[in-house]
Amino acid sequence: MPWNPIIKSRRDWETIPNLYDYESVRKEFSWEQARAELDGLPEGQGLNIAHEAVVRHATGSLGQQTAIRWLGKSGQVEDYSYARLDDLTNRFANALQGLGVVKGDRVFVLAGRIPELYIAALGTLKHRALFCPLFSAFGPEPIRARLTIGQAKVLVTTESLYQRKVAGILETLPHLEHVLLIGDEGRPTAIPGTQNFHELLEQHPHTYRIGPTDPEDAALLHFTSGTTGTPKGALHVHGAVAAHHITGKLALDFHPTDIFWCTADPGWVTGTSYGIIAPLTNGLTCIVDEADFDAERWYGILQDHRVSVWYTAPTAIRMMMKVGVDLVRKYDLRPLRFLASVGEPLNPEAVVWGEKAFGRPFHDNWWQTETGGIMIANYAAMDVHPGSMGRPLPGIEAGIVKKTESGGVEVVDQPDVQGELALRPGWPSMFRGYWNEPERYKKCFAGGWYLTGDVARKDADGYFWFVGRADDVIKTSGHLIGPFEVESVLIEHTAVAEAAVIGKPDPVAMEIVKAFVSLKDGHEPSDALRRELLGFARARLGAAVAPKEIAFLPTLPKTRSGKIMRRLLKARELGLPEGDTSTLEA
Ligand code: ATP
Ligand code: MG
Repeated sequence: MPWNPIIKSRRDWETIPNLYDYESVRKEFSWEQARAELDGLPEGQGLNIAHEAVVRHATGSLGQQTAIRWLGKSGQVEDYSYARLDDLTNRFANALQGLGVVKGDRVFVLAGRIPELYIAALGTLKHRALFCPLFSAFGPEPIRARLTIGQAKVLVTTESLYQRKVAGILETLPHLEHVLLIGDEGRPTAIPGTQNFHELLEQHPHTYRIGPTDPEDAALLHFTSGTTGTPKGALHVHGAVAAHHITGKLALDFHPTDIFWCTADPGWVTGTSYGIIAPLTNGLTCIVDEADFDAERWYGILQDHRVSVWYTAPTAIRMMMKVGVDLVRKYDLRPLRFLASVGEPLNPEAVVWGEKAFGRPFHDNWWQTETGGIMIANYAAMDVHPGSMGRPLPGIEAGIVKKTESGGVEVVDQPDVQGELALRPGWPSMFRGYWNEPERYKKCFAGGWYLTGDVARKDADGYFWFVGRADDVIKTSGHLIGPFEVESVLIEHTAVAEAAVIGKPDPVAMEIVKAFVSLKDGHEPSDALRRELLGFARARLGAAVAPKEIAFLPTLPKTRSGKIMRRLLKARELGLPEGDTSTLEA
């Protein structure tokens, strides 16, 4: 790494103790102990996510505490206490019962971040059907594809999304039996062939008894971001809640009075595991903002709602960096104690910027739709090494492996050697399969490891460093170059807002490094700037690793979950078909 400061872990501003010292927790940790923090269903009837997230608090001392504070696009603020959430989710579970939905049926929800989405999610889990979120910005085709793969029985959506995106594909969905519509801005709906979500809630009783739930019972079907190919439906079980619960405490520093804001949409796994389940099982207050990113709005939310723990993503952080630190300094963010980031590699520059802007660094953590919960993290009590994903959580064994010729894998023991990041299966939120794709699932395992498809290295201190997705790693003149390292150097330059790097085929070197950059406001593309950037990168990275070509783009193509789609840049560069672009940001 060309640039590697260490940010000392600082707990001095804290009045609450950090209970989660890395070494000691790791030594004593067991998943049984994590499960013991949950209640389980009464009379030994198993483990149900919605019981742990809602029922046990609603019927305990947190009944009147705000579980979800919803912030509407046009300034509305609505609080849902644990008791109210319990009442509404019971009604929804009863409504599903009334519709003939049974355990294991798939209930899809296509909606923005509105309260009904959360009610439907938790009510579905109470009823032991599968909650399957769809990102509301999807167009009709990605919606149709996912409803078909998952053989959806019920779709909950809003009237306008229905009219714009679902009505036209309805006849291609014979398995879809019920469409439940949420009227826009509370208005009733009367579209033939659909039912009204709110009327159904009103018509059904507010008590519901969750049936026996085996920890291995299916709970969630989550589609991946589609960054590298066709999205896959990862299946998760109710027992995953033990991992959601404990990783919230360990990696996000959850303490009982925290006000927590996860900016991810529940259409992606982060928005469900940490936007719904983990904060609620821990009895926190969650902020849910309906609107999209806007720096002023976001700082206003952090200030006005006294957010103490904040979980966001590199794209958003880079957008805030683009705006600059002067704006953030106008806000009183004293309650903000812990900042975390996930979804993409977090450039060292962004971690350091967090310190400058908020007085605390962003804590990067790494996981995937498949892992269901955080696997590797920079803990509250750990020194942050900017640019590193951190260290494996207690209960998680991570390794760097290489495939052998016989189809097995061998573990790389030496530090700082690149290889595929692999995990030993066995944690509760591990996915149990790709829906209807058993072969694809099987290919993820070798030699007793789950292979993540990401390339990383581990340093002598046990910190893991992301190199790139296996498909994105560049082979040039006998070197393997990780796009992340090159991109991180480029964004250190004052003119650069975002960077993405690909390997471009070359007859001599096999591949050369080509970079695409978008510029910060106030900077214009020019040959002079291109030469300056090439020189800047060469000085930092050396001629072998630095890009040979740089192209300017107004914005970089991203998935709707905010991940840069390098495969698309590469396909465009080579004039090849673009492949699956169903999750491409509009
Ligand atoms: P697909 O599998 O369909 O190509 P995807 O892998 O982007 O899509 P997700 O499961 O949403 O779908 O994303 C997980 C991936 O995101 C990880 O495998 C990794 O490549 C990247 N990622 C997540 N967090 C981090 C992080 N902290 N640092 C680096 N990469 C990260
Ligand atoms: Mg993936």
